[in-house]
Amino acid sequence: MPSGKVHDWVTIGTALGAIPLTGMYLPPETRPLAWLAIASYAFSGIWLSSDLDVDSSAYRRWGPLRVLWYPYQKLVPHRSWISHGLGVGPILRVVYLVGVLLLLIFGLNWVLARVGLALQVDPHSWLLHATDWVFTYQREVWALLIGLVAGGAVHSLLDFAHTRLKRWF
Ligand SMILES: [Zn+2]
Repeated sequence: MPSGKVHDWVTIGTALGAIPLTGMYLPPETRPLAWLAIASYAFSGIWLSSDLDVDSSAYRRWGPLRVLWYPYQKLVPHRSWISHGLGVGPILRVVYLVGVLLLLIFGLNWVLARVGLALQVDPHSWLLHATDWVFTYQREVWALLIGLVAGGAVHSLLDFAHTRLKRWF
């Protein structure tokens, strides 16, 4: 596979290259949505990289928080469709990350309740707020989704092209 640096530079380069294009080809009212998609694309490529399925620079980038990705790294075979599948890879990583964070919040809530403390925030109402938010900001959610999927797709295509080129030469 190409090194993490190659993936990072391709992600950053294409994201930065896309920003002036939005100014040239899109009407002003849709530009913020395109920028949101570009930001999501960069986040997807850099922080939610498909190579979180292996001990990679993307995995180590999370610092101490990489512990959140440890089960993912151990459970998901490297370059399988779960991590590198077009479209599904990044969406499954978001589902995984949200799931892990919710588990932590629910766990913390449960532990605090045992010792007689209660969190001021109720995770159930958070979930309801999040659902409301998704329905209120549908266009923004679509922009985020498109960027997310594109970030993972560029990674997978680069991996694929690299493997092909290696076979040919
Ligand atoms: Zn990869």
